[in-house]
Amino acid sequence: FKIALVFLLSITISRDHTATSTPQPPPSSRLSLETMRFDGNLSFENIQHASKDFGNRFHLMPTAVLYPKSTSNIAQIIKHVFNLGLTSHLTVAARGHGHSLEGQALAPDGVVIDMESYKSPAMTFHAREKHPYVDVSAGELWINILHESLKRGLTPKSWTDYLHLTVGGTLSNAGISGQAFRHGPQINNVYRLQIVTGRGDVATCSDEQNADLFNAALGGLGQFGIITEARIALEPAPTKVKWIRALYSDFTTFTNDQERLISHSRDAFDYLEGFVVINRTGLLNNWRSSFNPMDPVQAEQFTSEGRILFCLELAKYFNVEDVGEIEREVDSLLTELSYIRSTLFLSEVSYVDFLDRVHVSEMKLRENDLWDVPHPWLNLLVPRSSIHGFAEEVFHNIVKDTSNGPVLIYPVNKSRWKNGTSLVTPDEDVFYLVAFLSSAMSSSVGRDGLDALLARNRRIVKFVGESKLGIKQYLPHYTTTQEWMAHFGDKWEVFLRRKMAYDPLAILAPGQRIFPRAN
Ligand code: FAD
Repeated sequence: FKIALVFLLSITISRDHTATSTPQPPPSSRLSLETMRFDGNLSFENIQHASKDFGNRFHLMPTAVLYPKSTSNIAQIIKHVFNLGLTSHLTVAARGHGHSLEGQALAPDGVVIDMESYKSPAMTFHAREKHPYVDVSAGELWINILHESLKRGLTPKSWTDYLHLTVGGTLSNAGISGQAFRHGPQINNVYRLQIVTGRGDVATCSDEQNADLFNAALGGLGQFGIITEARIALEPAPTKVKWIRALYSDFTTFTNDQERLISHSRDAFDYLEGFVVINRTGLLNNWRSSFNPMDPVQAEQFTSEGRILFCLELAKYFNVEDVGEIEREVDSLLTELSYIRSTLFLSEVSYVDFLDRVHVSEMKLRENDLWDVPHPWLNLLVPRSSIHGFAEEVFHNIVKDTSNGPVLIYPVNKSRWKNGTSLVTPDEDVFYLVAFLSSAMSSSVGRDGLDALLARNRRIVKFVGESKLGIKQYLPHYTTTQEWMAHFGDKWEVFLRRKMAYDPLAILAPGQRIFPRAN
């Protein structure tokens, strides 16, 4: 085992595996796939869609796309590639909704497994259990799970801001949104997984059964197996949401209020996020807001007129019969906060409209051809002790405006997050998610162009590296093993051990660029 570990580590370190330097597979790789005997649909034609993702910066063609009919199809293809051993370059990537940003769901010259087309098992609800749950195919979109759960008066607890993503895709990262301070990320709210490992073995895992594989796969960047099924925790669903925004001009006041709210012993709100407003104009400035404040005059103050403003975003869930009580509670909670008094935006929407809010903006952007553009996003997890130093440098010196997409900033509470998963977070109990969600206008070469936004991201990453502020990337993207080792820190050894155990030839998820295929 130790020899194998050293072998994988040595090929890992000795190769520079950037996106464009993928070795060409020998023609026999395709031939070996073509001669496979099995009842799945393995397609070699019309597979261009599997060569790109939402980030729209990497275009790398696979050799084939598998549309699985069963878990055993997935196991067969992986076993086939595994048995080719060191003689082959073939790799395999699960593709959920393909909403990665840096080509993570691509398999250059390999096999992409189209998980979204795989709808087995059908969603099965266990609503009467003490802790209700739903069993779903890992290729299921969260939006579909929401709609089906609501028919039974239930809902998953933890979300991403955008629901047109697959279960397998978000569980391979974490799934963080405004509910994470309270329920932990989505990887906290899953009871069981079925996984096909990189050896082609099918395993069921949970905290009680095959716990090491379970923890490896959660936040595991697709490195240890293809998740085929998941058991998702549910709770009773509310019907309505009080959706609140308020502005701050002072960063310390803003973060003090955010931190007080997430530490609130009564769990005062159900959702907490926030964003930064710097010199904003244009459609993209609020592409994920879809917000309808009660007083439109107040909404006009949303342009920051050269100043940096910080917007707190809160939600309180309720049922219609409790509206009076909820309004009193929200009013009382708001009096404790120190936002600029004239900037309170308060709206009431249905629970489903609140959760699916980004989709409304997606439609608007699609109408304007602004959705399928390059997305040079950068997501960071910043420890509480570093957030002021980070904000001072980044918001005042590096980020000149937020017109080309939102910049989110909100704290979460690690004490409520599951330990032992593959997810890497800062080493403090409270840390902030800071997300630069830019869209590059393909026609633009200036401030909003791709090159300018990438240069801005590089400056932020350089500052993060040099400042030693303990900041980690979320949805991480690196191209060298040294960078990955630094990212994982003292979790690297466990990550590597798990890789050796579950995918020793490094067949899976090559688009993450952590381990090159062993050959
Ligand atoms: P894909 O892009 O298809 O795959 C992602 C990675 O997971 C790839 O490496 C792939 O090989 C692997 N993978 C996919 N399916 C499986 C599987 N079944 N088993 C094993 N590995 C698998 N993230 C947040 O946490 N919070 C947010 O609020 C949030 N908002 C977003 C909003 C938008 C508009 C977008 C585009 C992304 C957002 N994300 C957010 C990021 C998102 O969670 C990840 O990019 C996620 O991976 C996308 O899911 P997907 O189904 O498209 O996965």
